[in-house]
Amino acid sequence: MIARVHAREPRSRANGPGTRFVIWLQGCTLGCPGCFNPGTHATGGDAIEVGALLDELRATRGIEGLTLSGGEPLQQAPAALELVLGARRLGLSTLVFSGYRREEIAAQALGPALLAHLDVLIDGRYQAGDRLGAGLRGSANQQIHVLSTRHTRAEVEATPTAEIRIARDGSVVLTGVEPLRKL
Ligand code: SF4
Repeated sequence: MIARVHAREPRSRANGPGTRFVIWLQGCTLGCPGCFNPGTHATGGDAIEVGALLDELRATRGIEGLTLSGGEPLQQAPAALELVLGARRLGLSTLVFSGYRREEIAAQALGPALLAHLDVLIDGRYQAGDRLGAGLRGSANQQIHVLSTRHTRAEVEATPTAEIRIARDGSVVLTGVEPLRKL
């Protein structure tokens, strides 16, 4: 199975509890005004086998979990589900950011299976007028759903709001729910 990928970051501390492998999936049609990641909206991205992504996950030492973001992960639900199931098989925790609300996800064909294997869901459209930029929520209408006993809500909310990583080649990776405020 192929996933269309916008970007991936093997070690992030600003996308959920602990150190996490983050995959930003490409493609989103939800059109939230003020979305700060518009480059993820169009279809396209890098077409990568889910198995290859899971191999990367397996080879990355010292991570606690997988985070799926986007773009809209539920618009690639089969790939998102395979990634979540694979992460669980590796003993990793699973967190998804989705513009769909939990009840919308539950109504999708693969939604219940995905929800059953998530530890944390951050849901809801981004609403620029309710900008929050803290505790993993971009706007105040979004909700944190702790779906297992693996993480507490306090752990989720304590996630740093911003992160900057400078790679050996000098490239800069900037992530987090409020990546510019802290710089
Ligand atoms: S759901 Fe997320 S990626 Fe899609 S438009 Fe809204 S904020 Fe942007």
